[in-house]
Amino acid sequence: MNNSEIEQILKEKGVKPTANRILVLRELMGCSHPVSLADLSRLLDPMDKASIFRTLELFSANDIIHVIEDGSRSLKYELCHGHGEHSLADQHAHFYCEKCGSVYCLDEVKMPEFSLPDNFLPKSVNLMFKGVCKECVNK
Ligand SMILES: [Zn+2]
Ligand SMILES: [Zn+2]
Repeated sequence: MNNSEIEQILKEKGVKPTANRILVLRELMGCSHPVSLADLSRLLDPMDKASIFRTLELFSANDIIHVIEDGSRSLKYELCHGHGEHSLADQHAHFYCEKCGSVYCLDEVKMPEFSLPDNFLPKSVNLMFKGVCKECVNK
């Protein structure tokens, strides 16, 4: 994906493309699983953590990324795999490995349907399995 395609994605989401935003989005596109702010700041060195964080907040507000709480007090970020507005249908379950700290996307695990009380309009749901991942299971 070249820079002008990335710019286009940002514009479609109503985000003004700046050099930093393009870099952060490009990096997220290259990640096969959700990453933490610390991971990103290593990948984007020497960009400062505060600007990366602000960019992530903006991406999240504009439905470009999902923010995942992995249960280890750190947030993980990933590109939204779905199109358009965030909906429950474009979400998937995640797996947090308590040994290596990785978070995996379980795209094949469909979100269960919940029926909420009247007039509760959910925008997101967090389904996180915890345990030992396939890389760590035989160690
Ligand atoms: Zn693991
Ligand atoms: Zn995911």
